[in-house]
Amino acid sequence: MSYARQSVALLGATGSIGVQTLDVLRHERERFELVSIAGGEQLSELAAIVEEFDVKRVAVKSDAHRSTLRELLSRSVEIVVGDEGLSELAASADIVVNAVLGFAGLPVTLGALRAGKRLALANKESLIAAAPLVAAARETPGAQLLPVDSEHCAIHQCLASSPARAHYPDVTRLLLTASGGPFRGWSEEQLKGATKEDALRHPTWSMGAKITIDSSTLMNKGLEVLEATALFGIEAERVDVVVHPQSIVHSMVEYVDGSVLAQLSRPDMRLPIAYCLGLPDRLAHSFGAIDFSTSLELTFEPPDRAAFPALTLAYEAARLGGAAPAWLSAANEVAVGALLEDRIRWCDVVAVVAATMDHYVADPLDSLASLHENDDAARRWAAASLER
Ligand code: NDP
Ligand code: MG
Repeated sequence: MSYARQSVALLGATGSIGVQTLDVLRHERERFELVSIAGGEQLSELAAIVEEFDVKRVAVKSDAHRSTLRELLSRSVEIVVGDEGLSELAASADIVVNAVLGFAGLPVTLGALRAGKRLALANKESLIAAAPLVAAARETPGAQLLPVDSEHCAIHQCLASSPARAHYPDVTRLLLTASGGPFRGWSEEQLKGATKEDALRHPTWSMGAKITIDSSTLMNKGLEVLEATALFGIEAERVDVVVHPQSIVHSMVEYVDGSVLAQLSRPDMRLPIAYCLGLPDRLAHSFGAIDFSTSLELTFEPPDRAAFPALTLAYEAARLGGAAPAWLSAANEVAVGALLEDRIRWCDVVAVVAATMDHYVADPLDSLASLHENDDAARRWAAASLER
C-alpha cells in the first residue's frame, strides 16, 4: 500500500516516550518523516537523532543550549529556542507528539491545536492545567487531540463503538485501571518509611522518573482522572479508578446497559503511540500482543483511598474546576522535583500538594496570562511548604 507521507514533530524526543516514539518511526519510515524534534538537557542524544533521521529543525531551551548543540552537529539545521521555538515547531508538522515533561509542554499542546494539527498527547500536565484553553483550541478546524496515555488511549478505542454524542450520555462511567504501583498493599504505617529508591521500582512499566514517582503516590491516577474529564467531556463523578496489578487491561468503559468494553495488551507504550500516529489505520506491528496460549490471570480491586490521599485531592480539584487542577499539577511537580533531589521524603510529596491546595483561591482560568499567574502562585506555595 502507498500512503501520502506525513510529517512528524517529536517534542521531548530524548525521554522515555520520545525514545519509544523513535522506535515506532523506525518501523514506519515510508509512512512518516520526522521533521523536527525538541529536548532539554540531553544534547548529544538530540544530535544523534538529528543525524539518524536527517531532522530539519530542532528546539532547545536556551541560546547556550543552541551553541552547544551546534558544536555537536556535523550538518547545518535550524535551531529555535524556548517556548516560542516549541510552539513554532508544534505548528508546522502534520502530526505533533507532545512527549515533553510537565507544564513545560504547554506551548506544544496549544501550538499544535491552534494550528489545526493532530496532537498525539503524552504530556498530560498541559491538558490538566489548561483544560479550558485546550477546549477552545480544539475547536480550530483540523485540530485533533489523541491520547498517548495508555488508559485514555484504551478509552478512546472503547468509545469508538459509541455514537459520538456530546458528553457520552450512554456511558455510565469510565474505569481507569491502575497498576497500584510499587506500594500496593502497604499500610499507612509502612508508607511512612517508603523511600525514593523503592518508589522508582515500578512493577510493570518502565517510564521517566517523574511519572514513576507519580505512579507510586497514585497522583498519576489522580492526574489521569482530570485528564479523562478534559479529554472526553465526562465529569469526574463518572470516572472511577480500579487497581489492576497486571497492567493488561488498560482501561474500560461501562455503558448504561451494564456492558463493559475494555482494551487489552501487554504494557508497551509503543502501542498507544502507534495508534495515535496511524489512526484511522492500525500500524501492523504487534507491540502489545498477548500470548493467550499460557495462563493469564487478570485481577481487579478498589484503590486504598486512605493510604493514597492523592486520589481524593484530584477529585476535589475536579470539583473545584477552574485553575484548581493547574495548582494540583504544579504543586506536584515541585514536590516530586524535591523528592528526586532528596530534599523531602516520599511521604511528604502528597502532603506538600495538600498544603498547597489549602491556599487555592477560586479562579475560572480564562486566559493564558491567568494560567501562568496561577502556576507561579502554586509553585511559590509549594516551595514554601517544602521548607516546613
Ligand atoms: P522523561 O523525563 O523520560 O522525558 C521528558 C522529555 O521532555 C525529555 O525529552 C526532556 O529532555 C524533555 N524536556 C523537558 N523539559 C523540556 C523543555 N523545557 N523543552 C523541551 N523538552 C523538554 O519523561 P516521560 O517520557 O516519562 O514522560 C513525558 C510525558 O509523557 C509526561 O507528561 C508523562 O506524564 C507522560 N507519559 C509518560 C509515560 C511513559 O511511559 N513514560 C506514559 C504516559 C504518559 P531531556 O531529557 O533532554 O532533558
Ligand atoms: Mg497512564
